[in-house]
Amino acid sequence: MRHRVSCEHGKFTTKVEVSELEGKVVGLYFSANWYPPCRNFTQILIDAYEHLNSNGYNFEVVFVSSDEDLNAFNNYRALMPWLSIPFSDLETKKALDRKFNVEGKTVGLFFSAQWCRPGVKFTPKLVSIYHKIKQMLTPNANDEDFEIVFVSSDCDQPGFDSYFNTMPWLALPFGDPTIKSLTKHFDVQGIPCLIILGPDGKTITKHGRSLINLYQENAYPFTEAKVDLLEKQMDEEAKNLPRSEYHAGHKHELTLVCQETGGGPFICCDCDEQGSGWAYQCLDCGYEVHPKCIRAVDFGSMLEK
Ligand SMILES: [Zn+2]
Ligand SMILES: [Zn+2]
Repeated sequence: MRHRVSCEHGKFTTKVEVSELEGKVVGLYFSANWYPPCRNFTQILIDAYEHLNSNGYNFEVVFVSSDEDLNAFNNYRALMPWLSIPFSDLETKKALDRKFNVEGKTVGLFFSAQWCRPGVKFTPKLVSIYHKIKQMLTPNANDEDFEIVFVSSDCDQPGFDSYFNTMPWLALPFGDPTIKSLTKHFDVQGIPCLIILGPDGKTITKHGRSLINLYQENAYPFTEAKVDLLEKQMDEEAKNLPRSEYHAGHKHELTLVCQETGGGPFICCDCDEQGSGWAYQCLDCGYEVHPKCIRAVDFGSMLEK
């Protein structure tokens, strides 16, 4: 007995192939609940599965998911009387691997759009960091590599084109259905957002953007171990920073704070980017900047004059 049913949906070519396996007929069912023809076929397969097994045939099915998130996977699997391979985001990475040849690379998924002002503002910075990371990696070019893929939320092709023109990396085509499934899969609530996937396809961090803002190219490869190291370095460096400072962009005195002393995630009032950890904060009005953004002025002595 041999069946073959194919359905095409964008990135994933899905097929159901039934082959004999040690006297047992096993079907590998590649499917996803967001694709209506797959859902229709699922019911047909359930009927056949139940019919065959109640008539003494030993027929087994294994579901291989292309669902966008765990909830969708669980809901879809709940309909099925057979086995399934556990859901993970590895499928997403594999789809990217097939499309862009990014296997074994650390990949940044850059969710942004031309209508998004913070995204457009962050882009040149990301371009410069991208080049620096690439330069850093070339001298010891083992198998380690880094790539960025632009995942666009642009409203039209001209917007996409002119924005993507400013980027030296890859992009999913405008309107590509994978964009929607990636946005859902990674639960992207707002843009710009930089999600980092490791060479093994697993998500390293969803906070690529703030790590770039805090540590520039040193953030690479964005792993927890690297971030711990950078935080320790930052704590060391902060020991040598003045406890308070006057900044050229603000009239009040700023105080050095960290997470434990009233700091926390903030938007830097100087460069408009995210920050966390150490900051200079105005205790009067909440004005806050990165330590690296401080342009110190001797306001105290100016006032005394
Ligand atoms: Zn700043
Ligand atoms: Zn102030």
